[in-house]
Amino acid sequence: GPVAAEPELTDGFNLVIDALKLNDIETIYGVPGIPITDLGRLAQARGMRVVSFRHEQNAGNAAAIAGFLTKKPGVCLTVSAPGFLNGLTALANATTNCFPMILISGSSEREIVDLQQGDYEEMDQLAIAKPLCKAAFRVLHACDIGIGVARAIRAAVSGRPGGVYLDLPAKLFAQVMEADAGQKSLVKVIDPAPAQRPGEDAIRRALDVLKGAQRPLIVLGKGAAYAQADEAVRALVEHSGIPYVPMSMAKGLLPDTHPLSAGAARSTALKDSDVVLLVGARLNWLLSHGKGKTWGAPGSKKFIQIDIEPKEMDSNVEIVAPVVGDIGSCVSALLEGMGKDWQATPAAWLDTLKSKKEANVAKMEQKLRRNVSPMDFHGALGALKTVIKERPDAILVNEGANTLDLARGVIDMYQPRKRLDVGTWGVMGIGMGFAIAAAIETGKPVLAVEGDSAFGFSGMEVETICRYELPVCIVVFNNNGIYRGTDTDPTGRDPGTTVFVKDSRYDRMMEAFGGVGVNATTPDELKRAVDAAMDSGRPTLINAVIDPEAGSESGNIGSLNPQSGLKKK
Ligand code: ADP
Ligand code: MG
Repeated sequence: GPVAAEPELTDGFNLVIDALKLNDIETIYGVPGIPITDLGRLAQARGMRVVSFRHEQNAGNAAAIAGFLTKKPGVCLTVSAPGFLNGLTALANATTNCFPMILISGSSEREIVDLQQGDYEEMDQLAIAKPLCKAAFRVLHACDIGIGVARAIRAAVSGRPGGVYLDLPAKLFAQVMEADAGQKSLVKVIDPAPAQRPGEDAIRRALDVLKGAQRPLIVLGKGAAYAQADEAVRALVEHSGIPYVPMSMAKGLLPDTHPLSAGAARSTALKDSDVVLLVGARLNWLLSHGKGKTWGAPGSKKFIQIDIEPKEMDSNVEIVAPVVGDIGSCVSALLEGMGKDWQATPAAWLDTLKSKKEANVAKMEQKLRRNVSPMDFHGALGALKTVIKERPDAILVNEGANTLDLARGVIDMYQPRKRLDVGTWGVMGIGMGFAIAAAIETGKPVLAVEGDSAFGFSGMEVETICRYELPVCIVVFNNNGIYRGTDTDPTGRDPGTTVFVKDSRYDRMMEAFGGVGVNATTPDELKRAVDAAMDSGRPTLINAVIDPEAGSESGNIGSLNPQSGLKKK
């Protein structure tokens, strides 16, 4: 008699890919190995972009910044235990920075892990991930992959964005089920990050406080950049006429050259303002916790805060007008409430900031023209400032101590989400991961300005950049060490603890993989080499020779180094 046709089958490998693709996730950043090698291969075969790195932390950082740039969770894929732990650093960093990201790690057999019988790469990854991210899930059955991925996506992007861990045991991938049932088990996440509209009373309260201001100030944070409410934010600033200070990754949300930018008068703006409207910026250490001498006389300040996370309110100081909701909705509601004839900002305040700003800019301009060899930071950054001015759609990745602090002040940004840097933790090592994802996600040229020390944390990824032929130009500010290149060992035995091999040629690392290497000793040489790299789109590393004497301990945040209570003799 007739034989019933075998029902078509699918497996865990395919269902994970189906679930991601159904939710418009098209890129995976990862490092292959047991048990996820075939998952990566299959994802590539099925049309996903699979970017294989040399170390999971860099893949994780790439996924994190992809999340920041796109408002979709960036996905990082790793092997179990050690690979998972390497990726976990990036996941924790993403969570701290409010970047949506999903770390997917293969894991060992539950039965063996839970009885601690010593499996290959045994580790209770779910338990370890939990305290370091926003949410953590494990899927044990192929029929739950759809729900597991959906939960991970929603957890990553809704409310305050953050990192999510998704644990996929090796056995899951091999599980087989009927294809039809498999398809039906998939979930397309509807409205993953729902708008959260602020209450009318909250808007009224905020406007009342703003109305009473003599010296109002807006602080734009990276939450505002993330929100992609660029037009609304610009309208708020311009319609209110309130000067603003951008946090590092909010630079370019409005061009740094905007007349209302008080970035170059930051200290005065923070100290002397009376009402401060925080838009997607936390009053953490980067804003001196909203108190102390940075903020002027005690009690001289009223804070209004827009944030999607209600618990953020009053985290450090009293928020007299909390506005809880998504930035797009909150800013639009404020604008509407301001009406057509909103009060002008007092001219005295604008004048104070303007003259401070002009004085600071003039002082800076002189330093930027320093044409010495070896270069100092300002001379080299002067050249790069011009590069970004001429190529405002390029993405600037920036890390290091002095290299970060000085570049942030010197290099003007003109467009939103073009400056990617060390973020809330001030972490070193984001450089190549961020640069790679920026190139992949945006297709724009990337300029990575790196301290020689910072670069070392992810430097091996120059091979990845060459392999994928990405338009990334790395400039290593090489001053022979961490902070400076001059430390010595008092006993004379070893090199000082903060110095590297003198006069290293980082450019040759790039040449080793077929990219372009340049050794630049003057600002002019540096400018020419960066321009050539940006024009050609070829992977390039420029070793920028900086005076080993240049640089200060810990850059701008030397005061965070503990000082011994013992009196120096
Ligand atoms: P910065 O370091 O630039 O000051 P932070 O990372 O400290 O920025 O602050 C970003 C804030 O933005 C976080 O408190 C986060 O909850 C908030 N945020 C992120 N996305 C949104 C959004 N879409 N709407 C409202 N707030 C948001
Ligand atoms: Mg250095």
